[in-house]
Amino acid sequence: MPTPAEALALILDRVAPLPPRRLPLAEAQGLAAAEALVSTEQVPPFTNSAMDGYAVRAVDLAAASAEHPVRLHVLGDLAAGATPGRAVAPGTAWRIMTGAPLPEGADTVVPVEDTTRGEDGGDWVGVRAPLRLGVHVRHAGEDIQAGLALVPAGRALRPGDLGVLAAVGMPAVPVHPRVRVAVLTTGDELVDASERPGPGQIRDANIHAVCAQVAACGAVPMPFARVRDDRATLTAVLREAMQADAILTTGGISVGDYDFVKPILEELGARRVFWKVAQKPGGPLGFWMLGEKPIFGIPGNPVAAMLMVEEYVRPALRRLMGFSALHRPVAEAVLEDGWSGKPGDRRTTFLRVVARREGDQLLARLTGPQGSAILSSMLHANALAVIPAGMDRVEPGGSVTLHLTELAEDH
Ligand code: AMP
Ligand code: MG
Repeated sequence: MPTPAEALALILDRVAPLPPRRLPLAEAQGLAAAEALVSTEQVPPFTNSAMDGYAVRAVDLAAASAEHPVRLHVLGDLAAGATPGRAVAPGTAWRIMTGAPLPEGADTVVPVEDTTRGEDGGDWVGVRAPLRLGVHVRHAGEDIQAGLALVPAGRALRPGDLGVLAAVGMPAVPVHPRVRVAVLTTGDELVDASERPGPGQIRDANIHAVCAQVAACGAVPMPFARVRDDRATLTAVLREAMQADAILTTGGISVGDYDFVKPILEELGARRVFWKVAQKPGGPLGFWMLGEKPIFGIPGNPVAAMLMVEEYVRPALRRLMGFSALHRPVAEAVLEDGWSGKPGDRRTTFLRVVARREGDQLLARLTGPQGSAILSSMLHANALAVIPAGMDRVEPGGSVTLHLTELAEDH
């Protein structure tokens, strides 16, 4: 039986990024750049005004003062998007708006607040003070030069990246596409969340929790909810699910009389990589490959199911989507309330905790009872504490390693 680290390595060794595609920027948010993106153009593309004011030659204003304002002849108005016809000659200026191209001859912009214009809106402007050469001018290429590295391969594209890529003229970018993930929940006892369960029935929590986890990875969940524990039905639904890039099933993976996921997957030709991981909760995780397609058989218990998706499926989906960073941040924390497990247990234990920062310390408390059927523990958890195999207690105030699932790495 593999340890959690061995199981993760067995999975990650077998999955590779889906082939890249060029997608329009409007569809690229959150996807991994498939190659390093380098600017081929400069921003801004032309020298322009940073203020609403007047484009002038600084030398013309050297002698300006409140008592003796300098008057310049105004050649006309330049709006953003306009192109100047005439150059600024000695003693002249253009009225200019933010973003309009600086006319030839001008080297400086006087903000409109620092000028006076004839009452009649006449063709002159008065300036009461000299200006430092070049102020309020944005130079061509001062922001981004051709050749500047914008986004490294494997990083998720963020809104700011998309704006920059648009500015440098990359309307489509090579990215790894979203993974389509079939999510099957199995169990004769399951009813939809909208239904009132009859005798022996419970509502299907996993279809919502797991599909949301898949979506939170940037992947596209394809729900196949509440598949009956019946060989024929399960076989037919699994066949249909094969159109997805990856398959997750919950339930029916243990040694119960109606646990058909394992034999059916193997009948369908999936090759078993492992079944069961030396961990608590949720030992009977199975992992198969069918060609290039990873298939995860996840235990039905909702706490175990979410934990398995977090620890094993999420890194695999991130690799399929081409991200270079696969894992959550890891941090050491003080477990304030301590914990005791089963003596001599050779399995890794994952505890749901609520972590918070205090100064430069991370403090964690258990969410409450850690039984794998305690679904309410998922409401409050923002991290998982990983207790290594062989350790059966942590003293109050002892140190634990956390996987920061929800808590930001730093504030
Ligand atoms: P199984 O892995 O099928 O043996 O299920 C283990 C436990 O999890 C049982 O108590 C099931 O009723 C419960 N369970 C299985 N699937 C779900 C689900 N989709 N939503 C909520 N509970 C489930
Ligand atoms: Mg079941």
